[in-house]
Amino acid sequence: MLFPVSRGNQEERDDQVKARGFWVGLVLVLIGGLAGCTSPAQPAAVLPAHGTPATEPSPEETPPSTPPLSPENQRLADLGLALYPEEPEKGPLPANEKGRIMVLMYHRITDDGKDQRWTRTPEDFRHDLEILYERGYRPINARQFIDADWDVPPGYTPVVLTFDDSTPGQLAFTPGEPPQTLEEAVARLDPDSAVGILVAFHQRHPDWKLRATFFVNGNALFGVPAEEKIKLELLDALGFEIGNHTYSHASLKNISAEATAKEMGLNQKVVQDLVPGYKLRTLALPYGIWPHHMDEALSGTYEGIPYENEAFFLVGSNPALPPGDPKYDPYRIPRIQVVDEALQLDTTFPYTWLGYFDRHPENRFVKGD
Ligand SMILES: [Zn+2]
Repeated sequence: MLFPVSRGNQEERDDQVKARGFWVGLVLVLIGGLAGCTSPAQPAAVLPAHGTPATEPSPEETPPSTPPLSPENQRLADLGLALYPEEPEKGPLPANEKGRIMVLMYHRITDDGKDQRWTRTPEDFRHDLEILYERGYRPINARQFIDADWDVPPGYTPVVLTFDDSTPGQLAFTPGEPPQTLEEAVARLDPDSAVGILVAFHQRHPDWKLRATFFVNGNALFGVPAEEKIKLELLDALGFEIGNHTYSHASLKNISAEATAKEMGLNQKVVQDLVPGYKLRTLALPYGIWPHHMDEALSGTYEGIPYENEAFFLVGSNPALPPGDPKYDPYRIPRIQVVDEALQLDTTFPYTWLGYFDRHPENRFVKGD
């Protein structure tokens, strides 16, 4: 019985006739469809050509054309990652482009329990990202900072995440042979490495872009020689910056002019040999120690390879003034070390400076429209 019996007889009969007609029609359609699928002799004109609609949509039904993806989003899509919002939402804070910006400094991301002063555990690092995100901070690269390229939506505060020494916990893959392609490298990221954590965070929060600067030493690139090339290529492809931290982590105070040029130029050479054409623009001073031979530290040529450090980043200890401020000095950009609260160092992130900006919003940089 297709319909409830309580309805009137005539009405029920009419319904039954209609229903019979419906089922007969449906069976005929199915038979016709099957014949169309199985019979090679079916006239082509009966079926629409592959991929074209049976009827043309009227003009008002035409869907709006989708704008093309930005090159960066296309690259992320090709790597199987979440995309950045093309039009990010405006943030909650009033503009203040005269405020300061935190340049955060990380060294080791690991839970091996050693060298706590220079270590952040993966769990702590995830927590750092969460509190920055919740409080309206969004990441930019160090080179964007020196260019005053405030690549965050209006109403948000840029923050620069920097990683020194190219330590293994910053960028690692799951066990196995070195990945052969960037897609494989993304899929095999160690979820507890800094890059693995940043990528996972971006997938959950696409408006947290893949931005951070890795100040690398060419003689020790993330611990696995066979993976150096794919790792540097991956950093560049994802949108991160590779920065200069000298070839061998030399203290620049006590070495000759020639040795200073070698520390800079050889590091540039190693990186551009692995990522053709890549130019290091920013330098983190090893130990925060000022170079004795400033000319060679700034720019020069080593074995035919030109190099130039457009800005120096220090070790400690305040939020940085932005370019354009009368007191801005590109060769003395301060950074804030990120350490565990238990160490009770009073010039560190997150506990000291987040609270400071809560009490002094007038000193916090917020991007305008
Ligand atoms: Zn260092």
